[in-house]
Amino acid sequence: MTTQSSTPSTTQAPEMVLIRYGELALKGKNRPSFENALVRNIRSATKNITKVHVENKRGRLAVFAEERVAELAVRLQDVAGIKTVSPAWGCESTKEAIAEKALLVMREVLREYPVEHNLSFRVRSSRADKSFPLLSTELDRHVADQILPQLGDFRIDLKNADLVLGIEVRPERSYVFVKRLPGPGGLPVGTLGRGMCLISGGIDSPVAAYLSMKRGCQVSFITFHSYPYIGEASKKKVLDLVRQLSRYQPTSRVFVVPFTEIQTTIRDKAPEAYRTVLYRRFMQRLASRLAYRDKCKALITGESLGQVASQTIENITCIEAAAELPVIRPLITYDKEDAIELAEKIGTLQLSNLPEPDCCTVFMPNRPIIHGRVEVCEAAEAEFDVQGLMDRALEGVERYDIESEV
Ligand code: ATP
Ligand code: MG
Repeated sequence: MTTQSSTPSTTQAPEMVLIRYGELALKGKNRPSFENALVRNIRSATKNITKVHVENKRGRLAVFAEERVAELAVRLQDVAGIKTVSPAWGCESTKEAIAEKALLVMREVLREYPVEHNLSFRVRSSRADKSFPLLSTELDRHVADQILPQLGDFRIDLKNADLVLGIEVRPERSYVFVKRLPGPGGLPVGTLGRGMCLISGGIDSPVAAYLSMKRGCQVSFITFHSYPYIGEASKKKVLDLVRQLSRYQPTSRVFVVPFTEIQTTIRDKAPEAYRTVLYRRFMQRLASRLAYRDKCKALITGESLGQVASQTIENITCIEAAAELPVIRPLITYDKEDAIELAEKIGTLQLSNLPEPDCCTVFMPNRPIIHGRVEVCEAAEAEFDVQGLMDRALEGVERYDIESEV
């Protein structure tokens, strides 16, 4: 019988993922709720991949799993609150085993660099196991001395190294890593309460939802739909957008509100130039109502100053006057290109670009008002039964609960 070579190789899968999170929100009593929410969201984000065990040690999280750890690392890059993610390879907690593993991990990483690149390097270890026979600085030096002669041309640079080999020494096992993949940063979803995002099929509102999630909001969604002027495909488009956004929060609730009667009433009874502003005022009112029911404390829109006629300061004033909750507009100062870039990054751009109509395109005025006045809006609305229109729209609300498919 021949014995197989037992040389460990990093083409073996990583054993755990080390996670660093932002420090800002971590002062005082916020800390446990921040960390608990992050752990909960990590479990939820990874449940379709594998079962994880999460340990919280000294301001960092370690996520262990029996399988598919490399996939976990990629998935965790989407979890709000996470600053960086490092897939890490395990070995025995001895200085020899650590140096051996470090060499393999470095070789693997170096495959991604051009051969003659003159890289700088350092080792940085941290000991959760204070009984380990070497101090951190001694282990740094030991590992560097062992591996550098075998790696070729490197400069040691303690301040600004291109590659930092990290070592996490623990009593049961130690971990070695080099990559620090970026996470979204921000705060864990749920730590800042709930918000209701008015989502159209456009580019901006999905991005606004994502940015709110990244700042800790659990986002619910509301969309307005004018059947039969707008078909089922437009509704499906919005639901698909929410499914994509559910990568970034555990589950998402969507309310679809029938909007036809409101739009035809405005078309028939209000000054044509004010149509879009008046549609939007109804949207704010209905969203405020559903927000109360769904325990949301704010509305979220994709509005951006000056982007279209309805988004001048005066028109935003008219629209906001109908809201009963604070309105958060994450994109208010964004250029369109910046919103597009972010939409691409979060995976909503392709869906948003599908050419399905939105209810705002129904009965569009030829010359929309640019500098609307609240008194004119109120006078127009005095001509119709606002309450009745609201009640009937609310009776027809459909609700969908959507989970991420990744
Ligand atoms: P988007 O790309 O999100 O559609 P936009 O730049 O096209 O935004 P508008 O169409 O003027 O801007 O809409 C402004 C905001 O009003 C949207 O970002 C969204 O929050 C809300 N909104 C517009 N139409 C709808 C709709 N049919 N259902 C829900 N919210 C809507
Ligand atoms: Mg739009």
